[in-house]
Amino acid sequence: MAGLVAAAHARALGAEVAVFEKGNRAGGSMLLSSGVVWRHRTLAEFRADCPGGEPALQRCVVEELDAGLDWLESLGAKVTERETGNPSTVGRRFDTRLLTDALVRAAGNVLLGHAFVETDVLATGGFGARLARERGLLLRANPWSEGDGLAYGLARGADLSAGLDEFFGRNLPAAVPEELFVPAAQVYGAQALVLDDEGREFFPGEPSWSETDLVQATARLPAAAAWYVVDARALRRPVRERTVSDLVEVARAAGGDVRPAEELPFALPRSPKLVEPPFLAIRVRPGVTHTNGGLRIDERARVLRDDGSAIDGLYAAGADAGGIFTGGYGSGLAAALVFGRRAAESAVGG
Ligand SMILES: Cc1cc2nc3c(=O)[nH]c(=O)nc-3n(C[C@H](O)[C@H](O)[C@H](O)COP(=O)(O)OP(=O)(O)OC[C@H]3O[C@@H](n4cnc5c(N)ncnc54)[C@H](O)[C@@H]3O)c2cc1C
Repeated sequence: MAGLVAAAHARALGAEVAVFEKGNRAGGSMLLSSGVVWRHRTLAEFRADCPGGEPALQRCVVEELDAGLDWLESLGAKVTERETGNPSTVGRRFDTRLLTDALVRAAGNVLLGHAFVETDVLATGGFGARLARERGLLLRANPWSEGDGLAYGLARGADLSAGLDEFFGRNLPAAVPEELFVPAAQVYGAQALVLDDEGREFFPGEPSWSETDLVQATARLPAAAAWYVVDARALRRPVRERTVSDLVEVARAAGGDVRPAEELPFALPRSPKLVEPPFLAIRVRPGVTHTNGGLRIDERARVLRDDGSAIDGLYAAGADAGGIFTGGYGSGLAAALVFGRRAAESAVGG
């Protein structure tokens, strides 16, 4: 998304642009996403959720997102919902196909199947595909974000942000096709007794609302997989517009391992989460959506060296720019929008 945003904005500012897109379609992971472009209501709430992130970058997101959303709408992108459904966040949900079309139209010159060789704005979507492969995790994102932007930035002397081992993701029942990335996400870790392969509770306390901490803890297990065990009460509970039972059925239909808990290879520990039988066990594996760490940038999206100086003529946006969500979870689409626009302004304005 960030590359299309930067190109569309730079073109409107009078620049000649070309977007090099390695994949065979435009839109990257944004096209596959739920399309909710959101921010925390206040910087303090953003900081509480992502305490390791750079406050100056987080402030840009909080202060500029709303103008960015209006700009997307002015390009013809279609809003499908004006609320996020989460009282601590604000944002809009876009139809991602129409959003991609609007940005491609505004950018004008999008070259599909062309990896970049030289560029001013790095926006290759981080290194989720490489991270998933190297750590034996599932990929829940576009398959082309291998870290090419990072490699290019490093070769030009860039510094890296904090949080390079962090990613945002969802626990999935199996390797699922793109159209199931959203509906098959098993987002009821808070309702489940979460166990490793020895039947131990490996995650202390309750997961955060995004469950990204639970997903990352699952990824650190030797098997990079866990069991969610739920009782009949949990199955009836709502998860957004569905129930836990609906999500378990999607897992089963997607070829996941869903079994009566008596068939687990270990004895269940006692737990206040398992009260009303029958108990069901669901095997989950982390699916990497995007990396959190990346190139270090400043508020103008300039790529920085380790002494804090800016590399001449090099900008980064989207998941190529790290250090915004360190320690937690925020809207990757919002960061792509805000810093894509900033990168364009810096690149055109010098
Ligand atoms: C299922 C799913 C649901 C999501 N839901 C949400 C949501 O509701 N809200 C939210 O905020 N975020 C959501 N996200 C995350 C969001 O999509 C990403 O954070 C966002 O797309 C990141 O933007 P980006 O521009 O960095 O990367 P992308 O949008 O992935 O774009 C990067 C592009 O770079 C291309 N590329 C890679 N390497 C090269 C190269 N060498 N040369 C040229 N091109 C290259 C890729 O092919 C890709 O098209 C979701 C993601 C997924 C997969």
